[in-house]
Amino acid sequence: MSARVGYVGLGIMGGGMAANLLRAGFDVVVHNRTADRAEPLAAAGAEVADSPRGVAERCDVIFTCVSDTPDVEDVVFGTDGIAEGARAGSLIVDTSTVSPEATRGWAARLAEQGVGFLDAPVSGGSEGAAKGTLSIMVGGDPSNVERALPYLEAMGSTITHVGPVGAGQTCKLVNQILVVTSMLGVAEALVFAKAGGLDLEKTIAAVEGGAAGSWMLANRGPQVIRDDWRPGFTIDLQQKDLRLVLEAADELGVPTIATSTIFHLYRTLQRAGLGSEGNHALVKALERLAGIEARQDA
Ligand code: NAP
Repeated sequence: MSARVGYVGLGIMGGGMAANLLRAGFDVVVHNRTADRAEPLAAAGAEVADSPRGVAERCDVIFTCVSDTPDVEDVVFGTDGIAEGARAGSLIVDTSTVSPEATRGWAARLAEQGVGFLDAPVSGGSEGAAKGTLSIMVGGDPSNVERALPYLEAMGSTITHVGPVGAGQTCKLVNQILVVTSMLGVAEALVFAKAGGLDLEKTIAAVEGGAAGSWMLANRGPQVIRDDWRPGFTIDLQQKDLRLVLEAADELGVPTIATSTIFHLYRTLQRAGLGSEGNHALVKALERLAGIEARQDA
């Protein structure tokens, strides 16, 4: 059974990750709520099950990648969910970005039926999922991590066991704080540069190689100044993650001032109907306050 692996949730991320499991030579059994999304995987050689339960009945290691906390609840504990098909000794590995607290609750519930659980949220976007170069932050028992490693290595290039169950999700939220605060800095800097009469392309080129350089500046800065709002990660999903940060920070009793401000800036953009734009459209919230658009002159 060990070369057989299940995958539930074949969206932008899950579809890429499952394809990489196939490419690595594993026998893969997949399920997606919307059946036609499983077709490319079936064409590439995956077996298709008609429910998450069906995946768990055929595999003893099952990956999940769905949208939000209630969706993981659905696919794991809902009717025809993974928990109904899993046996003692099965292992569930959740790669979605969801609540650390809910994650710990699921692991405890599954442990009662002898089923192991790892949280293994990912970073690296759709490109990383497709290329198998994700950064994967894993929480759980070392023996379960070791068991999942061959699969994780097929999907990611940086795999870090960060602590017990829930720690992977907490680390992913750390990642999200860093992503959005970095983007706020890029946005504020570009609006300021435009107000100061600078050429924006030259400005980015001048500063990106020094201490001010960042992934966001190098990758999303050029998109901003060229009016390109195609998403690597949408504002709506980004907001979901910031809500998770704010909830976890409340539980921890720690202030998250920058994240809170950014959450509300994104909220103004959602109200303007821009939730499906990329998270770099954060700049538009500042542009509206400043009355200046940070675009490159033609
Ligand atoms: P997506 O393309 O919208 O896919 C979501 C997947 O979840 C689909 O397969 C969807 O099924 C399934 N799903 C949602 N609710 C469900 C439910 N209640 N029951 C069964 N299936 C359900 O999203 P994605 O970009 O792949 O993101 C998936 C997860 O990865 C999210 O937690 C996200 O935050 C995280 N993530 C995304 C990125 C990124 O750049 N996109 C990066 C890192 C992490 P249907 O096809 O039937 O709708």
